[in-house]
Amino acid sequence: MTLKNMLIKSKDINQISYEVKWHDYLRKWKKEQDIKRDNSEFHASSLVDKNFCLVKAVLYEMVKITDEVFPPSTLARFITGVDIHQKHQKFYKDFDMAYYIEKQFYSNFLKMTATPDGIIKFMHNTVVVEIKSMDHFPFCKLKEPPLNAYWQALIYMYIVGIPQAIIVIENKNNQELKIFKINFDAEKALKLIKRRVAILKCLEKNMIPLSKRICKKINERKRCKFKDICFDKRKLREILRNNKNESTRN
Ligand code: SF4
Repeated sequence: MTLKNMLIKSKDINQISYEVKWHDYLRKWKKEQDIKRDNSEFHASSLVDKNFCLVKAVLYEMVKITDEVFPPSTLARFITGVDIHQKHQKFYKDFDMAYYIEKQFYSNFLKMTATPDGIIKFMHNTVVVEIKSMDHFPFCKLKEPPLNAYWQALIYMYIVGIPQAIIVIENKNNQELKIFKINFDAEKALKLIKRRVAILKCLEKNMIPLSKRICKKINERKRCKFKDICFDKRKLREILRNNKNESTRN
């Protein structure tokens, strides 16, 4: 919320003063995170979205939006998530279980990176770790690993070549844990690999597969960062032209 909006909504001056500084801090924190993590390469986690859109994935690679702006509430959620991850990762290090923490791996075949939360020694095995946090009610109902965590662990297992993983879910309200052990499933992993192969084919042919758009109508595209581009033929043509020039230069 901007300062002007805060004043219009006549918030208390103490609240405004605190929030202005807090929001500045959140933005600074995000910039530091972006510098620490190299986001220039396609990351395996982008393949696991349950609303995966091939057009979005292709545009992501062609446009490379680096300055995405998030509202303070989203940034505050990111910080909470990072804190939970760091707590478990410190536990792995302190208890001598960690082989790697957030090490970035690269697949030459799929031309993408993967950064598992950890690779650790657990119950006499080497396992990939995927950490997630969850609100109380969905946590209580949870009997199986959440699908996004399952798929993410699967593609990481494929890239790092480790056939077992644990998914650690922490309840955000009372810090209870649920641990799920999973084994690599080649058939399921193939589904994600095919997604990446389809993206690479489009990039190679300099093509945006508009027939695969998941949003058919304008009002379905609200939350996509490419919403202003996806339905604008002029912008799409410009992207393809720039991309062609770029590949000719390389
Ligand atoms: S607006 Fe919809 S169809 Fe277009 S890229 Fe985004 S998710 Fe895909």
